[in-house]
Amino acid sequence: MKKFYVTTPIYYVNDIASIGHAYTTFAADTLARWHRLKGEDVFFLTGLDENSQKTVKAAETAGVKDLKEYTNQMALKWTSTWKNLNISNNGFIRTTEAKHKKLVKEFFMKVYEKGDIYKGKYEGLYCEGCECFYTESDLVEGKCPFHKTEPKFISEENYFFKLTKYADKILTYIEKNPDFILPNSRKNEVVEFIKMGLKDISISRPNVDWGIPLPIDKNHHFWVWFDALPNYITGAPKYWPANCHLLAKDILRFHCVIWPAMLMSAGYDLPKQLFVHGFLTINGQKMSKSLGNAIDPNVLAQKYSVDSLRYYLMRSIPFGEDGDFSEKALITRTNTELADSLGNLLNRVVSMCEKYYDSKIPKAKEDKELSSKLDFKKIDSLILNYKLHEALAEIFYFVDQCNKYVNEKEPWNLAKNQKEDELEKVLFNLAESLRIISQLIYSFMPETAEKINEQLGFKLRDSFDLKWGNAKSKGIKKGETLFKKIGLTDGLKKSSNDGLKGGPRNGL
Ligand SMILES: [Zn+2]
Repeated sequence: MKKFYVTTPIYYVNDIASIGHAYTTFAADTLARWHRLKGEDVFFLTGLDENSQKTVKAAETAGVKDLKEYTNQMALKWTSTWKNLNISNNGFIRTTEAKHKKLVKEFFMKVYEKGDIYKGKYEGLYCEGCECFYTESDLVEGKCPFHKTEPKFISEENYFFKLTKYADKILTYIEKNPDFILPNSRKNEVVEFIKMGLKDISISRPNVDWGIPLPIDKNHHFWVWFDALPNYITGAPKYWPANCHLLAKDILRFHCVIWPAMLMSAGYDLPKQLFVHGFLTINGQKMSKSLGNAIDPNVLAQKYSVDSLRYYLMRSIPFGEDGDFSEKALITRTNTELADSLGNLLNRVVSMCEKYYDSKIPKAKEDKELSSKLDFKKIDSLILNYKLHEALAEIFYFVDQCNKYVNEKEPWNLAKNQKEDELEKVLFNLAESLRIISQLIYSFMPETAEKINEQLGFKLRDSFDLKWGNAKSKGIKKGETLFKKIGLTDGLKKSSNDGLKGGPRNGL
């Protein structure tokens, strides 16, 4: 069986989920669900980075003395958020887990035995927000490009990883595997960064007592990224190498340079693909904790619906590029594409089957005039190439074609004029189209797909069943409207500051 292993980055445990975290996680969920429907053996991993020094600070601020208790409390918030947002992750890794600590130590020993670790003195600039070292040239006006804060000058004894040893190997690998880092613009950025010259990196911090101690020196704990990246192996060892790591552009270097080098050194396979997406702005403004405009996705999902939010984010922002989150645009898309196009189509078909066929779906032949408007191969290929927004556009093109079909065929007139055969054909084809549409939107809007099937009396299968006329309906059962229209002022009026909290991971 073909395997598909997809990951999100692990998020800092001391934050609560923001719309940025939800965005990455929705995309991973969409991919996972799509590959499951294709009959693949899917593993979808997300989780938490708990060994950071930020955790210690945040627990102090929160007044919780026991760090374990603090991380447990926070982890519960994360898992309940993913449950609220209908995320179908198979695994949830926490880097404080014993199995992870064990793997990191083993991983390190492989690197150490390879001769890639040495002790040295580090002097330089460290951003506590990013938890990484910067050179002067990385800074913008002397400040961290992501946190806009001045990094601290640090001088200490550290263990170093020989990153420089792998520079050429990574370049060769990227050249031989042009799809390793996507989109291309990000690949070029990585190549340029490596060509400018890498430096060995410090992978330990002395005098801290939270995190994972180095097996060769108890006075040192792992630098958080050296401990965080191997989560992708701990979380699903049997599925390694991952088919796809999804990440935002601020953690590009860690994933596309340091992680491949670590894997090469320790003797593991590299992930098949890294897909880097952009940042979200909020109503045109950069989102950040300090600006106080990081939106809690739980609040939005409750206010609108999980599926409106999922649809809007996947449909509006070309995946891979920066995008703007606007509640007004979410409302507009919900009202037009979800309520007017999709919801109305279902409502019309269900009502006519109730009225003309005693709540049954008539049997008839496939009408190529309609079915030829759907291009499954194209949609599949768009999704496999991370063009999630275009895939949705293509699916909704077909929804529009179905509505057009209703308007042109005028089934109510067919009924009035007793054109039985023609009426049967039209309603059968519309119901079948909706059944197939439900499978296509399932990865994006799982709850809506379920509702469509319930109303049409079909059972949503766990793999694609796209053959026309293949499924049996147990009868129409009219349900609630799929998407209620939202008054623009109603929606925005309620958008007080209750949604404006939470925090980004490195500026997302
Ligand atoms: Zn920073």
